Amino acid sequence: MSTTYDFSGQHVVVTGGTRGIGRAISLAFLAAGAAKVHATYAGNETAAAELKTLAGDAAPRLETHRSDVGDYAAAEAFFKMLMDRGEPLHVLVNNAGIRRDGVVGMLSPEHWDAVLRTNLGGTYAMSKFAVLMMMRARYGRIISITSPSGKLGFEGQANYAAAKAGQVAFSRSLSKEVARRGITVNCVSPGFIETDFIADLPEEQAKAYRELVPLRRFGKPEEVAHAILFLAGREAAYITGATLDITGGL
Ligand code: NDP
Repeated sequence: MSTTYDFSGQHVVVTGGTRGIGRAISLAFLAAGAAKVHATYAGNETAAAELKTLAGDAAPRLETHRSDVGDYAAAEAFFKMLMDRGEPLHVLVNNAGIRRDGVVGMLSPEHWDAVLRTNLGGTYAMSKFAVLMMMRARYGRIISITSPSGKLGFEGQANYAAAKAGQVAFSRSLSKEVARRGITVNCVSPGFIETDFIADLPEEQAKAYRELVPLRRFGKPEEVAHAILFLAGREAAYITGATLDITGGL
C-alpha cells in the first residue's frame, strides 16, 4: 500500500494482526515507518509466519504473538511484557474478531459466549491495559473494528451484532473518560471485505450482497487499513468517539 503517513518512532498493537484486515493494517503501519508493530493472533501459525515473510525488510520491526484477546489474564500479561521492556504504546487497533452465526432459537451458549468474549471482551481487556500505558504518556490512539451488523442487525448474527454494537458503545464511553489525556477512541465499520471471514458465503449470496453495495464490489483489506492510519495519525487529534463507515456506500 502506498502511503504518505508517517508513524516513525511509534509502537502499534494490532489484535488479529496476522490475517485478513489485521494483516493489511500491520503491513500498512510498517510501510508508514512504525518503530514496532505487535500483531497478535489466535492460533494460525502459518498465517503468522507468512506475515513475517510479507513484511520483508520491515520484519525486524514486526513481532507476532499468539495471545487470545478473549482471555483477560493473557491481555494483562501481554501489556506487562511491553511495560517490563520499557516499550511505549502509541496505537492500539482492536481488530480480532470471530463469527459464530445462528438464529437465536438455535444459538448455543458456547457460540454466544465465544463471540461476545472475543469481539467485545477482547476490546475491553486490550483497551483497559492500553489506556493505563497511554494515560501516563498523555497520548494514544485506540481504534476498534465494528460492523454494520451492530447497527442494522442481520438474521443469524444476534451474537455478533450485539458484540459489534457493544464495541461502539464501549468506545464512545471510553472516549469521554480519556479525552483530557490526549487519547482518542474511535471505531471503523467495514462492509463486506474480501477476507477468510466471509469466504464461507455461498457464491449466489455473495453476488446478491455485491449488488446491494452502491460501489458494486466488496472492499479490500488495504482500504480498511487506509482509514485506520488516518484515524491513528497525530493529525486526527480532534476526532474521537466517532465511527467511520467503510462500506462502499451501504
Ligand atoms: P479474519 O478471520 O480474516 O482474521 C481474523 C484475525 O483475528 C486472525 O488473525 C485471527 O487469528 C485473529 N483472531 C481471531 N480470534 C482471536 C482471538 N481470540 N485472539 C487473538 N486473535 C484472534 O477476519 P477479518 O480480517 O475479515 O476481520 C477482522 C475484523 O473485521 C473482525 O473484527 C471482523 O468482525 C471485522 N469485520 C470484517 C468484515 C469482513 O467483511 N471481512 C466486515 C465487518 C467487520 P488466527 O489467524 O490465529 O485465527
